[in-house]
Amino acid sequence: MSVYLNEGAPDEPLFSMVASYGKQMLVTDWKMFVSGLFGYGARFNTGLAYNLNEVAQQTRVSLGMSAMEIAERLTLFPYYARFCSRPLRRRLLSRMLTWSSKHQPGDVQKLIQRPHVIRFCRSCASEDRSSGRVATWKRCHQLPGVLVCPHHGVWLLECPVNVQPYSAWPTLTDVKQAVRVELDVSESQHRDQACRRSVCQFALRYWKRRVAAG
Ligand SMILES: [Zn+2]
Repeated sequence: MSVYLNEGAPDEPLFSMVASYGKQMLVTDWKMFVSGLFGYGARFNTGLAYNLNEVAQQTRVSLGMSAMEIAERLTLFPYYARFCSRPLRRRLLSRMLTWSSKHQPGDVQKLIQRPHVIRFCRSCASEDRSSGRVATWKRCHQLPGVLVCPHHGVWLLECPVNVQPYSAWPTLTDVKQAVRVELDVSESQHRDQACRRSVCQFALRYWKRRVAAG
C-alpha cells in the first residue's frame, strides 16, 4: 500500500500530516490505516515516531524522503539527540527506524515517553488560514520547554492528548478546548519576558542544529 501523504506545511510534523491525510481521505478504519502506513498499530505521538523505514517506503512516491530524513525533519528526534551521548543517540535512532515491542533499556525508555499535551499558537493558525492553507500543528511548538511561540512571542495554547488506540488522530481544526500555557513567574514583567524568551531560545537552539546520527 502506498500512502500519498501531502507534503506538509512549513514545520508541520509527521503526526500532523498523518492526521490531516486521514481527515481528508475520510478514513474510518484507523487501525488498518496506521497499520498500513507504519507497519504496526502506531499510537498518536507528538514527539517521536517508529518504524520509519516502513513509513519511508509507504510514502516514497509522495514524500520521497528517507527514514533518516523523516526522523530529522518531521519528528523531535534532532532535539532529543542533542541531549544524548553518541551510543544512546544511535540506539534511539535505531528504535525509530524499526519497530520492536520489546522493552527498551531504561535510558531509551525515558526518551520515548509520549508527551501528554499538544500545543499550538493561535497567531500561527491565523497565518496559515490567511495564506489559504489549513491550520496545522507545528513541530517547534511541541518541543519540551517551548511555552511561547518563537515566531510571535505569545503564550502557546495546550490541550491534553487523549487519543484512544486506533481512533482518528486530531488535526488542529478538531480542537474544541485549549488552555493558555503560562509560567507562574512572579517577577517584573521585564524579567518574565526575558525568562520565557531564554527558555524558548534554549530549546530552539538545541533543536535547530542538525545532528549527525553516527
Ligand atoms: Zn505563532
